[in-house]
Amino acid sequence: MNQSVTDRSLVRSDGRTVWVDVDGYTVGRFSQFGIDLHTADSSGCIDCTHERPDIQGWFRFVNGILDNYRVEIDGGIHMPDFLR
Ligand SMILES: [Zn+2]
Repeated sequence: MNQSVTDRSLVRSDGRTVWVDVDGYTVGRFSQFGIDLHTADSSGCIDCTHERPDIQGWFRFVNGILDNYRVEIDGGIHMPDFLR
């Protein structure tokens, strides 16, 4: 498991799935099954898909996390293998 930690965020990945936790809630998940970008208490959807993302979907996810949570995802560490 790869992990990137700040004082309020945790980005984890295992080569297939990326999870983004902010303030203890999992607000982002990215995998071949789709994208989840959720509200700060993880109860609602901001930008979710249920289809296999391509590289544009990856940047959509990374930018969505950055815009909504000011959390940067290091693609060199966390980009899933199916996009490499
Ligand atoms: Zn959702």
